[in-house]
Amino acid sequence: MTEYRRNNIIYIVGIGPGNVSMMTEQAVHALEECDTVVGYPVYLKLVEELTEGKNIISTPMKREVERCRIAYEEAVKGKRVAVISSGDAGIYGMASLMYELLPEYPGVELYVVAGITAANSGAAVLGAPLSGDFAVISMSDLLTPFELIEKRLRCAAEADMVIVLYNPASHTRKDYLKRACDIVRDFIPDDRACGYVKNIGREGEEAVTLSFAELASAEVDMFTTVYIGNSRSFINNNNMVTKRGYSVL
Ligand code: SAH
Repeated sequence: MTEYRRNNIIYIVGIGPGNVSMMTEQAVHALEECDTVVGYPVYLKLVEELTEGKNIISTPMKREVERCRIAYEEAVKGKRVAVISSGDAGIYGMASLMYELLPEYPGVELYVVAGITAANSGAAVLGAPLSGDFAVISMSDLLTPFELIEKRLRCAAEADMVIVLYNPASHTRKDYLKRACDIVRDFIPDDRACGYVKNIGREGEEAVTLSFAELASAEVDMFTTVYIGNSRSFINNNNMVTKRGYSVL
């Protein structure tokens, strides 16, 4: 049977948190199908066992628009391209930017391949912290004004949502987790259950459960996802869990 393979196509692939076993079958298939892979070097390395022999285009961090245009130019040449993103490509990833640029490249088809985002892969490591409503908030103020981040944090805490923090720190934003804690302090008691997971699905994976009082001084980095529990969250045996409200005898 002849396989029907289209060209001028770009898959925007969420590769999950970092371990090939945590990629969807669809994501693996997209990487098999493509002939060109575009991505940031750390992510390319995570999937290198699946991309051997392909044309690999590695682009530096913070050059996202350039990376997208490179992908489009390859697709215009007739290539089948995969743009890879960690976690899910539509969650603080490249998918939206690719769609914004699409009108400039008629004839190119885009497909987004869903991936497991850090919030739920980290939640599985901790136990079950996200069993009710939760809010994911990025502490990065590169693309969002800090006042808006502050407002979102305050509203989520006031509404008793579990809060998941992405980008809790970086080299230039070392104290942002403490800033986040200071912002929500009015709504969250010191003994509230919290947790964080570093390097989910990667070498050095580490899960920590702690109280809200301890969280402000926790050492986190750009590969950490932080969880601030709601009033139904608890810690047991180093697991963080949020009760859904069933009565348990
Ligand atoms: N598109 C990604 C998120 C990118 S924002 C996704 O869907 O997961 C980058 C932030 O995500 C990091 O600062 C960190 O907070 C979180 N993150 C991504 N991968 C992670 C991992 N393997 N371990 C822990 N946190 C991770």
